[in-house]
Amino acid sequence: MRHRVTLVPGDGIGPEVADAARTVVEAAGVAVEWDVQEAGSAVLEREGTPLPDRVLEAVRESRTALKGPVTTPVGTGFRSVNVALRQELDLFAGVRPARHFPGVATRHPGVDLVTIRENTEDLYQGIEFERGSPETARLREALIELAGYRVPEDAGITVKPISVTGTRRIVRFALEHARRYGRKHVTVGHKANIMKFSDGVFLATALEVAREYPDVEVREMQVDELAMWLAWEPETLDVLLLPNLYGDIISDLAAGLVGGLGLAAGANLGWEYAVFEPVHGSAPDIAGKGVANPLAMILTAAMMLHHLAEDGAAARVERAVAGVLQDGRTLTPDMGGTGSTDAVAEAVVRGLTT
Ligand code: NAD
Repeated sequence: MRHRVTLVPGDGIGPEVADAARTVVEAAGVAVEWDVQEAGSAVLEREGTPLPDRVLEAVRESRTALKGPVTTPVGTGFRSVNVALRQELDLFAGVRPARHFPGVATRHPGVDLVTIRENTEDLYQGIEFERGSPETARLREALIELAGYRVPEDAGITVKPISVTGTRRIVRFALEHARRYGRKHVTVGHKANIMKFSDGVFLATALEVAREYPDVEVREMQVDELAMWLAWEPETLDVLLLPNLYGDIISDLAAGLVGGLGLAAGANLGWEYAVFEPVHGSAPDIAGKGVANPLAMILTAAMMLHHLAEDGAAARVERAVAGVLQDGRTLTPDMGGTGSTDAVAEAVVRGLTT
């Protein structure tokens, strides 16, 4: 079967690592019809927006996308392409595995974590009031009138909504994920003791939905304590279920435990659409030099192959990446090597047949 996939190479190191991932997918013998769609800084200059509608339409049509990183333009008034994609396509679940591969230097060889992050609500929803604006002045007045809260006049304000509806679906998603992949337990991270009416909803809803899944062990932990355990004994943790902002921070922490951003794969999933993208950004400091680590993007492509029910090819790609890491002779500079992006991709391709 031929799969149709929207390929958004992105900008910065995006096109370099996207090329590498495409080469590996094709070498794994999966027939893909790639619909290449540009987004990001070059498109912003040409078309006046970093995320033209045609990109969204293309993903709606193919339902599956492989996406490289896209720079978030600072000070142009455009919201992040990545956040916009997640919201427009209702990609409510961020899935970020952090697994240790033998051969990669780490203090924690037993780590095998998956962070499942709610992707649409929380402080990331974009409900913001600028310091000094007339809207902020009205909001301040309303807060005094409603409940006597006095926000300083020189404060900017970001609102943190967390709903029962938004939480239910991410909890179901996480528990189904744990069931499907035979995970041992799910830890819900929160700060419900401080943010009673936002994190409180997240925690209460998670525990309520968990009752429908008696076969999956669900634990709860305050996110600061979770951070401590991640630094101390991360191998005792398994699936981490988190609201949006904590999920963003904790998944980077988890990536750091197992070899850094150059290895961190990710997916944004909803009921209808799936956009696979590595955790790392466009890395402007090394863009165009041919030294970006393509392994995060290649492992991201392997996650996509699982999603497309190409489990055999996905497993071959993962084994080939593990082989390159174990061998240790062909690595990019971020992992202590001297290899180029293309050399690492070629080593993975060679590993597919051995
Ligand atoms: P970054 O991930 O781009 O870079 C952080 C550091 O990690 C840099 O030193 C970089 O060289 C290194 N790095 C990242 N990926 C690497 C790779 N594959 N190989 C080798 N080294 C790698 O984070 P940043 O600098 O904070 O962000 C740069 C831009 O990317 C910003 O505009 C940001 O908004 C955007 N961004 C996009 C996404 C996305 O598209 N999903 C995610 C994060 C950041």
